[in-house]
Amino acid sequence: MSIDVSVVKPEETTTTRTYEVRTFGCQMNVHDSERMSGLLESSGYVPAEDGERADLVVFNTCAVRENADNKLYGNLGMLKQVKDVHTDMQIAVGGCLAQKDQNTIIEKAPWVDVVFGTHNIGSLPTLLERARHNNKAEAELLESLEVFPSTLPTKRDKVYSGWVSISVGCNNTCTFCIVPSLRGKEQDRRPGEILAEVQALVDDGAIEVTLLGQNVNSYGVGFGDRQAFSKLLRACGEIEGLERVRFTSPHPAMFTDDVIDAMAETPNVMPVLHMPLQSGSDKVLKDMKRSYRSKKFLGILEKVRERIPEAVITTDIIVGFPGETEEDFAETLRVVEESRFSSAFTFQYSIRPGTPAATMPNQVPKAVVQERYERLTALQDRIAGEENRKQMGKTVELMVTAESGRKAEQTHRLSGRARDQRLVHFSVPTGCEIPRPGDLVTLPITEAGSFHLISDPDASQYSVRRSRAGDAWDRAQADSCGTGTTQVPGSPVSLGLPTIVKRS
Ligand code: SF4
Repeated sequence: MSIDVSVVKPEETTTTRTYEVRTFGCQMNVHDSERMSGLLESSGYVPAEDGERADLVVFNTCAVRENADNKLYGNLGMLKQVKDVHTDMQIAVGGCLAQKDQNTIIEKAPWVDVVFGTHNIGSLPTLLERARHNNKAEAELLESLEVFPSTLPTKRDKVYSGWVSISVGCNNTCTFCIVPSLRGKEQDRRPGEILAEVQALVDDGAIEVTLLGQNVNSYGVGFGDRQAFSKLLRACGEIEGLERVRFTSPHPAMFTDDVIDAMAETPNVMPVLHMPLQSGSDKVLKDMKRSYRSKKFLGILEKVRERIPEAVITTDIIVGFPGETEEDFAETLRVVEESRFSSAFTFQYSIRPGTPAATMPNQVPKAVVQERYERLTALQDRIAGEENRKQMGKTVELMVTAESGRKAEQTHRLSGRARDQRLVHFSVPTGCEIPRPGDLVTLPITEAGSFHLISDPDASQYSVRRSRAGDAWDRAQADSCGTGTTQVPGSPVSLGLPTIVKRS
């Protein structure tokens, strides 16, 4: 049964209800939260102001992180006290943990009104109304999708860039990962639908799009086209006004040359690849049920760099997987050294109940994992610093972002992302045009750290290209508070760039 979200409105007799979505976990969850917000707003809810008590709090949970359930129940416990006073408040719990724990959430926290799974985000407004009407908790968890999530209304965080799902679920069975059991088998969205959504984002002012799937390289298997992903990249290259196309995440086992060719030959596909290594040891990769080996991994990187010399490659690595010996770990260090990653998400392995690895023998003691982790991060930080220093003096084009660095108030620098996704904090030379989020600036790199670059250009080295995305940002600002972005660097008010910290 599909749900017509347009007809579900919060109770007519009450004043407009406010909502807040609290997100935990990965980018997939962040994107799902955008859909939840979009759905709620098309059902008549409005975002709660910062610091205001919302009439509806939605938790979009994650089961991958350690202690996720303790954190959720802690949060729910705190909200119970608020709800005891404000009895018309509603609480909903969705996401991976809801899918995994199902009815236990209502048993443990009976003041929760709605529990919904990863496959039925579209039911949220209906479930909320049903819970209010029946005055009892509603839980709905489906084993498979009824509406492809991207067809639901979405409220985007940033007008200048957007996420587009190309598939959901995963057909792999990596032994450390809970995703396949929670998100189900991979379901591919038809290319026409994806491209229509990309076009709609571009029409709305976005100049950057990130294609999102648990394993983008297997995209197309569902409808019998093994080259569907590279074709999709090339088709994105045809969309006028789309300046930057990114994607995440590929899987080394299924990574094929046609994708490298499409990246190299499509000018708006950015030279950046996030390629999860997980371990450099072939034995550990086998135990993880990751079907590539380190030689194949390094071979892909070599090919990518041959075709796209400026490519930035990033990765994910797990340290201390069950059975990992010192020799296995040395293999990881070797592959990291050879790979020259620009950055890496490094994780200490810890047991995730419900995954095959959780019950494997030879779990590695915490102290050993910690010590290896520190060696790995020290190595990776050194490499990242070395790679970043190679950028010194280069001229880069940045898309200005709405978020600024932690020290922005003191340094008065704005922030942007280079084509290769490197984070650059930059100053605007005196008297020069101040860019808006979404505008493009060109400037030289003057300083390099391990985690970001800095540019303090003089006026002759600095130029701004105003973009449709910057115009869209101005329109969004005017719509929300009636102000544009004419702040002067040095202004104490967060450099004129409001940072969205809470999706509400
Ligand atoms: S490829 Fe492996 S790690 Fe990635 S979502 Fe699928 S099972 Fe999980």
